[in-house]
Amino acid sequence: MSGAKPVHAAQTLFPVVDDCLHVGGIPLTRLAERVGRTPFYAYDRRLVAERVRHVRAHLPAAVELHYSIKANPMPALVQHLAGLVDGLDVASGGELKVALDTGMAPDCISFAGPGKSDAELRQAVAAGVAIHAESEREIRSLARIGEELGIAPQLVLRINPDFELKGSGMRMGGGAKQFGIDAEEAPRMLALAAGLGLDVLGFHIFSGSQSLKAEAIVEAQAQTIALALRLAEAAPGPVRTLNIGGGFGIPYFPGEARLDLAPIGAALEQALPRVKAAAPQAQLSIELGRYLVGEAGVYVARVVDRKVSRGQVFLVTDGGLHHHLAASGNFGQVIRKNYPVAIGNRMSALDTEAVSVVGPLCTPLDLLADRMELPRAEVGDLVVVFQSGAYGLSASPGGFLSHPGAQEVLV
Ligand SMILES: *Cc1c(COP(=O)(O)O)cnc(C)c1O
Repeated sequence: MSGAKPVHAAQTLFPVVDDCLHVGGIPLTRLAERVGRTPFYAYDRRLVAERVRHVRAHLPAAVELHYSIKANPMPALVQHLAGLVDGLDVASGGELKVALDTGMAPDCISFAGPGKSDAELRQAVAAGVAIHAESEREIRSLARIGEELGIAPQLVLRINPDFELKGSGMRMGGGAKQFGIDAEEAPRMLALAAGLGLDVLGFHIFSGSQSLKAEAIVEAQAQTIALALRLAEAAPGPVRTLNIGGGFGIPYFPGEARLDLAPIGAALEQALPRVKAAAPQAQLSIELGRYLVGEAGVYVARVVDRKVSRGQVFLVTDGGLHHHLAASGNFGQVIRKNYPVAIGNRMSALDTEAVSVVGPLCTPLDLLADRMELPRAEVGDLVVVFQSGAYGLSASPGGFLSHPGAQEVLV
């Protein structure tokens, strides 16, 4: 490849031919014509499949791989993943419908998340999917709904561990949390479930998200397995399901390196005999969202204006935080960092300049790149935001300022 060097490792996943980035084997300019309008998200099915293969190559074969739909619920993408992974994890009635529509067997679908409504619990019991109860109320509701429907609920207890995934981008376990049942309350909830005639299949322990440190993940998984096996001792019946979370991160910002899966796989392999001895019927699984899809997606917006304000160049695009909140910095996070950004139809241009890429919203927070060195761009050029396959469109305030939504394509 000649010309400007890649701004980020993510860029190397997508080939460049004749100055133009290719996504799904298609030149970006042609893809933009095919989609018909900008902005759009494009997800590369080959990169998703490669990532699944990469995870499977490093994890023991005995550990199932699940996809967490909330990372990206686009139906075509979920359908693609349904053929690659062992299970789908959903967090709402809406996601449950997307998962069931793929044809994935209900016993390979699990439903976690706080505040499940009775209607959602009823849907889940009727469908026969695993329900990860997060509270005493959910356990009691499940017993009642199971009786009403004459169907035994597939119950798993989501446990709020007494530790957290160190250095993770988002802490989802440890301390006081709205997620799961506190580990120390588990014996009482197991007794409650047994008293209500409910069979508890096992446990789900998720300690955090977006970690780039293999040692931290290894440590959290060791603690998770130790806790799960303590809980198994307290369980009245055999443990058949053990979801030990995930938390694998992807590099977003300069200086971040890809997560090394080798030590994680090796540690899990070592732990397997202990699990087998203490819980011989337990099916181990991990759940990953962004790691499977995050690097496979780009967000593409078109430059609609180019202006200079007191010496600073602004590229104004038709896309922004209403479609891609995370790249803008989440409504003003403390220290905003640039996502990897490129000019997709001028990938090799040597004539660069410092520019700010902004969107059309009336707020200074609508910023896709802050004073970044990019090839000199004109109106009509295509701005590409990498690392956009997870927590993009569905995690953005699409209604803010009433601009059109973004298209999504799987290529
Ligand atoms: C969101 C979520 C995940 C997925 O997290 P990623 O960082 O996208 O891998 C996994 N498990 C649970 C319980 C979640 O809520």
